[in-house]
Amino acid sequence: MPTSSRAFDLAVVGAGICGLAHALAAASRGKRVVVVDRDAQANGASIRNFGFITVTGQQEGECWRRAMRSRDIWRDVAGKADIPVLQKGLLTIARRPLARAVLEEFLATEMGRECRLVEPGNLAAYGEGLRSETFAAALYSPHEIRVESREAIPKLAAYLAEQLGVVFLRETVVHSATPPRLETSRGTIEAETAVVCPGDDFHTLHPERIAAYGLTRCKLHMMRVKPAHFDARLPALMSDLGLVRYLGYAERPTAAALKRQLESEQGAHLSNGVHLIVVRSADGSLVVGDSHHYAPTPDPFAPESVDALILDEYVRILAGPEPEVVERWTGTYASASDRLMLVDRPSDALRIVLITSGTGASTSFAIAEEVIGELYG
Ligand SMILES: Cc1cc2nc3c(=O)[nH]c(=O)nc-3n(C[C@H](O)[C@H](O)[C@H](O)COP(=O)(O)OP(=O)(O)OC[C@H]3O[C@@H](n4cnc5c(N)ncnc54)[C@H](O)[C@@H]3O)c2cc1C
Repeated sequence: MPTSSRAFDLAVVGAGICGLAHALAAASRGKRVVVVDRDAQANGASIRNFGFITVTGQQEGECWRRAMRSRDIWRDVAGKADIPVLQKGLLTIARRPLARAVLEEFLATEMGRECRLVEPGNLAAYGEGLRSETFAAALYSPHEIRVESREAIPKLAAYLAEQLGVVFLRETVVHSATPPRLETSRGTIEAETAVVCPGDDFHTLHPERIAAYGLTRCKLHMMRVKPAHFDARLPALMSDLGLVRYLGYAERPTAAALKRQLESEQGAHLSNGVHLIVVRSADGSLVVGDSHHYAPTPDPFAPESVDALILDEYVRILAGPEPEVVERWTGTYASASDRLMLVDRPSDALRIVLITSGTGASTSFAIAEEVIGELYG
């Protein structure tokens, strides 16, 4: 630094999953890529999430297709980057008859083609330890994979650097990005094109462009628990609360009636945006979450009452006592009320890409493929 003229074809701002996905798409085309991030190591939403690459439940159409494509890229890159896939598939539990009806409606869509309804009496085939006798049904989806994000994101970055020649500039803030020049806290970078993937930082780069989308931020509670017992055969788990949040289910006709029932029976869960995801890690611990609270600057506090709501749903799904919580954290992501993601085009050479829903781990690879494809014609 400073770098020589046109040192790079592409500069990517942000080393979260969105930025890394763009670096992968461009480097795979033989482009010379630099990735710049203010942090010494990944620290944003991309390492705070479940590492759950979700297909079933994503909104019908573009988002679902992008999740399918991203899942395929994850599988491919996980092999090359030595990222273990820790779990496959998803069981979405219906505790209520109305939830079962939503699952049946989902199965009738194109998205349900490779999924199946499982009667409570047959759930033991997927693993022991579920409170099956209290369920109305479950939906099995074979599409999902789960990685440990806090390890997978650094491994993905190492693969990009070591195998594809991507240059990483860490602990470097980008103050302006107008290719062919990017001004940073450590000098000027010259790059023909740039993609800005700032996560939920709306104010450092092109704030006036980002402000036009009326975004806010969302804070989520997460926990790692040590269960007394968890059958390693079980896939990722979700429940009724997720059926009114994940649009692939929530847009089915009966979901409105399910939501009304949940409002009367689990009003505190809904008002705190609580739904249940349970995924397993290599050491047998589980990552459990989450909640959703929206604000331009989310507060840093994580009230116990919200975690209690998450664990309350957990014990309705899994037999045994409430598990020991061994770790807690919060995360934030960009959120929009009218879109799941955005690609802004301030100039021919510049794109701003934000995932404005909690779907970045599941869709970034496909989005990046599209953005890089369009940027380079
Ligand atoms: C708790 C939680 C659970 C989630 N669960 C899931 C899930 O199960 N499945 C799923 O698909 N998605 C999930 N998500 C959503 C997903 O994690 C996000 O959509 C995704 O990580 C966003 O990636 P990103 O790269 O845009 O942002 P980030 O990971 O936030 O990365 C942005 C990066 O940009 C850098 N940056 C910003 N501005 C600058 C600048 N000017 N100069 C230098 N660096 C800059 C930051 O330092 C940061 O490293 C979850 C999110 C959270 C918080």
